[in-house]
Amino acid sequence: MFPATGIENWQYVAPNPNQVKAIVALQERRDEEIVAWLAFAKRGGFQLQSRNWTLSREIVGAFLTLGNCEDVLVLHWIHEARAGGHADGDIQKAGIYWCTGCGKNKPKCYKNSDDWRREEKQHEATYVCMLGGISEMTNLGFKCTFCNATNPNNRHFEKHSIHACVSASGHLYSCKRRCDMVKHLAKIHGVNYRPQAEALASQRKHTLEKQAWSCGFCVTTFSDFQQRLKHLQLHFEQGKTLADWNFTTVIQGLLQQPGIDEAWKAKLAVSLPGVETSDLVWLDSASKELQYKLEVGPSEDEGSAEALVEAAYATYLLNWTFPEQ
Ligand SMILES: [Zn+2]
Ligand SMILES: [Zn+2]
Ligand SMILES: [Zn+2]
Ligand SMILES: [Zn+2]
Repeated sequence: MFPATGIENWQYVAPNPNQVKAIVALQERRDEEIVAWLAFAKRGGFQLQSRNWTLSREIVGAFLTLGNCEDVLVLHWIHEARAGGHADGDIQKAGIYWCTGCGKNKPKCYKNSDDWRREEKQHEATYVCMLGGISEMTNLGFKCTFCNATNPNNRHFEKHSIHACVSASGHLYSCKRRCDMVKHLAKIHGVNYRPQAEALASQRKHTLEKQAWSCGFCVTTFSDFQQRLKHLQLHFEQGKTLADWNFTTVIQGLLQQPGIDEAWKAKLAVSLPGVETSDLVWLDSASKELQYKLEVGPSEDEGSAEALVEAAYATYLLNWTFPEQ
C-alpha cells in the first residue's frame, strides 16, 4: 500500500500542522517503539486489525498520519520536538551520523563526522573506580588519590568507603561515562571538589581490549576500530539511519570473526542441524552483554571460543516471525 521507497535520497521537509500534532503526541515514546509502530502502519496493520491495541486513538491516529513519511524524517522531527526546537531547519541542522553505541534507546545524532567519531570512541572506554590504586607515592610520601591527604592509613580509607565500591562478585565499580564516575566519586568516596573528581575520573579511564567489531547494517567483521568507523560513516553518508540498525546483524557479524567462526558453525551443525546463522535473531535488550563478550573475543576474561559460542547459543531466538529480515 505504501511502497517502500529508498531512503538514499530523502530530503528534509518541514512537517505540516497535522504532522506537528502527531509528533507532539509521540515525542515521549522511545524511538525504537516509534519505528516499530510506523512499520506496522506502513504495512496497513492498523486498518487490517480491528483489535483494540494498547494504544489510544490519538496515538494510533498519530502513527497513521506519519505512516507515509520516511522513518528518518519522522525521527528528525521527533528529535527536533524533544530538543524544543521547531521543525524548520535543514538536514544539516539535524545531522546524519548516529551513535551506534547509544543506539535507539538514547539516540544521538551528529552533523559533523569528527564529533560522531569522538562519541563512538567513548564507548570503547570504560571508567573503573580505584583503577591504579587508592594511594600514590610522591616526593612527600604516600598520598590519598581521593583527597591528596599525605600518608593515609586504613582508617582514612574507611572514611572514603572504599569497600562500598566492590561488588559481591569482587568487581570494582565501573561505568561508561566520565560524568557517572564523577558522581560516583562524590557520592561514595566523598570527593566533592569537582575538578579533583574530574581529574581522578580521567585517570581511571580504561580502554577496552577488543579484537572484533561489526556493523549493524550489513554482516561484516572488522579487526580494527578505525576501519569500522570508516565503514559506518559511508553507510550514513549513503542514507542509512539508526532505524536501519539491526542488532541481530551486529551479532551475526561478530560470530564470523576468526577464532569463533568455526566453533560457532560446529555448534550449529550439532545442535540445530539445517539452520543457518541468518535464521536466528538476537534481541538487543537481552544480548548487549553478548555483544561485548564477542567483541573482546576468546580471552582469559571472557572465556574460550566454545564458552562464547555457548553464550550466543543461549540467547538466540528462531526467526519465525520475520521471515524476510
Ligand atoms: Zn554514544
Ligand atoms: Zn583521602
Ligand atoms: Zn568507587
Ligand atoms: Zn556495513
